[in-house]
Amino acid sequence: MIVGAGYAGLAAASRLSAAGLGVVVLEAADRVGGRAFSEDLPSGVRVDHGAQWIGPSQQRFHELAARFGRTTFPTWDTGKHVEIWHDGTRTDHSGVLPNTGPGIAEYGRVTAVLDELARTVDVEEPWRTPEFAEFDAQSAEDFFLAQTHDEDAHRRLALAVQSLWCCEPREISFFHVLFCLASAGGFEKVAETVGFAQGSRLTGGGDAVAVALAESLPGVVRLGEPVLTIRHTPDGVEAVTGGGVVRARRAIVTVPSAALEKIAFEPALPPARRGWSGYTPMGRVAKVHAVYEEPFWRKKERSGIAAFSSRGPVGAVFDNSPEDGSRGVLVAVLHGDRVDGWVTAPDSVRRADVLAALNEVAGPRARMPIDYAEMAWSEDGWTIGGHGCYVTPGGWAEHGEHGWRAPTGTLHWAGAETSSVWNGYVEGAIVSGERAADEVVIAFKNSEES
Ligand SMILES: Cc1cc2nc3c(=O)[nH]c(=O)nc-3n(C[C@H](O)[C@H](O)[C@H](O)COP(=O)(O)OP(=O)(O)OC[C@H]3O[C@@H](n4cnc5c(N)ncnc54)[C@H](O)[C@@H]3O)c2cc1C
Repeated sequence: MIVGAGYAGLAAASRLSAAGLGVVVLEAADRVGGRAFSEDLPSGVRVDHGAQWIGPSQQRFHELAARFGRTTFPTWDTGKHVEIWHDGTRTDHSGVLPNTGPGIAEYGRVTAVLDELARTVDVEEPWRTPEFAEFDAQSAEDFFLAQTHDEDAHRRLALAVQSLWCCEPREISFFHVLFCLASAGGFEKVAETVGFAQGSRLTGGGDAVAVALAESLPGVVRLGEPVLTIRHTPDGVEAVTGGGVVRARRAIVTVPSAALEKIAFEPALPPARRGWSGYTPMGRVAKVHAVYEEPFWRKKERSGIAAFSSRGPVGAVFDNSPEDGSRGVLVAVLHGDRVDGWVTAPDSVRRADVLAALNEVAGPRARMPIDYAEMAWSEDGWTIGGHGCYVTPGGWAEHGEHGWRAPTGTLHWAGAETSSVWNGYVEGAIVSGERAADEVVIAFKNSEES
């Protein structure tokens, strides 16, 4: 049995099914895909409320896309990008990361140090990393403060942490930052657009491969079936769902930490697993799409890509127009502290805040979208945040070895945050599901042999 029909759960189901094992996937929501959620708006434009980008080194994601005939297309990045500084200064540049501007030299130096330290991380057994405990005892902010007093560099570093982990530098373990960078192959890989993590989008939307995976497993996925209790039994495990009781020999649980707290475990999970959950809150993120008749900013040689440093709720803007450019779409991304006040503001204030930011990126026409859609992931009842879980200072050292992904009896743990590669991304989710499925297959083989 698998709990959760996001990319991790579906990849696990596909692997187990290919190994000839019977499998059922229990999904609380009325759709598959989890944090990958694409939707057709009234204007006819399909938008990605969650995962949307696929990078060139995300191998399993590409292989699955190819298996289901899904293609990718490059993220639009032609024209000038703009960086809007906290004092209102505007700097045009090419490439997502500017190479001039306040604090840029120090920022470049510190991110190079991050890369150097990330190369020392053992991604399979992170607790074996040199200086593991020292790095984990610090927040990213502690480390940045020890590195530089340049306030502008701090603003840039904060924006990077917000964009990548949807939290603030004070909240996240410095070791976790290094671990995630190591799992993806370095800072440039996660931060840049063309040729890197934000390089391409999936035709049909970020959930298209998840939907195809589910369709390739007829009768396996049961939607609208939240797992309320997971109980160890003499024969294996049973799940009490909204619809009844499901029994299996083993279970793979893929839900992120905040959603895990909604499931009762009998007997209770071991202290390390519970402790790990306590140290791994979800980030805070919202995406807002504004649709226009055409991508009018392109005519003015603007790319639609922008970064806002510590100014208003919006952190970044991208051109999310359809591949053929038949409509113009700008997506505003809001993260960390900057999303907290915005989420609770009245509808009209939220919309005005976002359209004011889009106006700064693309001009006054941006204030008049023909379609507009918000998705704040903290409001999603079965995810309760995003992009994913981050680890707070001390969490890795306290509970990582026994709480991160070590199986708990007949329970196996998957999900993007349990991956040693592209941790927190769709690629990581797929790899984690396949790894957990392999654990189950090996456990069955061992029990047959004994
Ligand atoms: C706004 C946003 C943008 C992102 N952008 C990107 C991107 O561009 N590229 C990228 O690679 N990654 C991106 N990510 C991250 C990516 O979406 C996730 O890492 C990945 O989708 C996680 O997959 P998963 O299967 O591990 O977890 P999930 O997708 O969270 O799947 C878990 C599933 O469990 C279900 N569930 C929860 N509780 C229960 C229960 N009690 N019973 C049954 N089912 C339950 C949930 O409904 C969900 O379907 C983004 C995430 C967000 C939120």
